[in-house]
Amino acid sequence: MKFLADAMLARLGRWLRMMGYDTIIMKPDVSDEFVVRKAVEEDRVILTRDKRIRASVKVLLVKSDDHLKQLKEVFDAFHLKSLFPEHSRCSVCNGELRKIGDKWVCIKCGKLYWEGSHWIRIKKSLKELGY
Ligand SMILES: [Zn+2]
Repeated sequence: MKFLADAMLARLGRWLRMMGYDTIIMKPDVSDEFVVRKAVEEDRVILTRDKRIRASVKVLLVKSDDHLKQLKEVFDAFHLKSLFPEHSRCSVCNGELRKIGDKWVCIKCGKLYWEGSHWIRIKKSLKELGY
């Protein structure tokens, strides 16, 4: 399942990438028409806080203000689970990560991820959510 997150849900979008889900994040100034067209073309579920969006693809209206609760909303709505870290994608560019020793590297932009404190925080947050 692939996602398109609107600009208000950028943080959720970055989390979904880390959870292993192909997610594009919209810039704040794009039109609803652009969002819908992109989602249809790439067969992505639209994640939005904007009730007005109507599309022929699935649209999930995200209610919570908290990014972790938002993540839970998405997981619950589509019966998903965390694929972190084995299938994590780059939080910056959505590229796939490859494990090299104790690091993960984005094959698209080259960003490095260490299994350090940030990694541990992600695991802790997932545990708190029950994943
Ligand atoms: Zn990247």
